[in-house]
Amino acid sequence: MSTYRDLAHRGSARATVLKTIGTRERRSHLTAPRVPTVGIDIGGTKVMAGVVDADGVILEKIRTETPDKSKSPKVVEDTICELVLDLSDRHDVHAVGIGAAGWVDADRSKVLFAPHLAWRNEPLRDAVAARLAVPVLVDNDANTAAWAEWRFGAGRGEDHLVMITLGTGIGGAILEDGHVKRGKYGVAGEFGHMQVVPGGHRCPCGNRGCWEQYSSGNALVREARELAAADSPVAHSLIDRVGGNVGDITGPLITELARDGDAMCVELFQDIGQWLGVGIANLAAALDPSCFVIGGGVSAADDLLIGPARDAFRRHLTGRGYRPEARIVKAQLGPEAGMVGAADLARLVARRFRRANRRRLERHERYERYAQAILNPSTARPTQEP
Ligand SMILES: [Zn+2]
Repeated sequence: MSTYRDLAHRGSARATVLKTIGTRERRSHLTAPRVPTVGIDIGGTKVMAGVVDADGVILEKIRTETPDKSKSPKVVEDTICELVLDLSDRHDVHAVGIGAAGWVDADRSKVLFAPHLAWRNEPLRDAVAARLAVPVLVDNDANTAAWAEWRFGAGRGEDHLVMITLGTGIGGAILEDGHVKRGKYGVAGEFGHMQVVPGGHRCPCGNRGCWEQYSSGNALVREARELAAADSPVAHSLIDRVGGNVGDITGPLITELARDGDAMCVELFQDIGQWLGVGIANLAAALDPSCFVIGGGVSAADDLLIGPARDAFRRHLTGRGYRPEARIVKAQLGPEAGMVGAADLARLVARRFRRANRRRLERHERYERYAQAILNPSTARPTQEP
């Protein structure tokens, strides 16, 4: 970890760079250069990288496995750099945005902690930028996904938006007037660990009764497996589908059965959705956004989940009947949202590179002309020939 002395020692040039990056990111996306950039989404199992244009269109996408948690941080950096270099063979890359499943500090240079990777206080932005020679931006994956939904998906036109990502747990992000609200230390939006049931289910975070223990993919599967293990008569079609192996019950399977009308699976989604609505009502009391966007794998259940969530939201909203109600909508961009958002955020830091590069090119051209003139005066200035 760097000390104050280290930081001061590196001199003012570095401080200036950090300051200008901050200023540039406060600029609107509207003034960002319309150049293609690379977005990278680092999840627990897959790393996805893609070239995305200024309209959010994915020009090319590649993916690879996430390096094992036991590997050094350098291995993950290698993976990122290989993907970017591969894409830059075929595309003009102006900046790289990285959305990581982990806590990113407020000036978005360090990953403080990532549950699936060996990153602990990892200076990811500078490490990758030094190797790729393009500007790099690092952000939390829920923030990048929310950004993408706001720019190109379900949240377009909303100036106060909260995104809730239901995967194995709950991730979240807050967007206001075109800015991601990250909090003082960069870790705002960890909605999954708000306590909704005092003394409830134990959560891996160490507390009890966290929201994500009641409304997430893990909660869905846990409840289904409990019913199946108890050999409940209502769970028979589910037990049949997995041949009696309760451990094979997965979220997508429950979603499929619920869609086919299996009463127990529909009920499980009603429970999850009801808890989702309760949590959303809490968030509305604190943040008062105009729109909640629900993303992540569990949102594939669509109205089976979002219908009960809307009902519970209306029942639990403070001041109900006397205030406008926020919309609750399903995300539109699917599993690529994190990658698209990371790429689009990276365009905010792309300008500096373009300017510096243009200057470098101009200098080079001037030098070439000068060298030409010295070596070969007759061809260098044909207009001045008699
Ligand atoms: Zn928790």
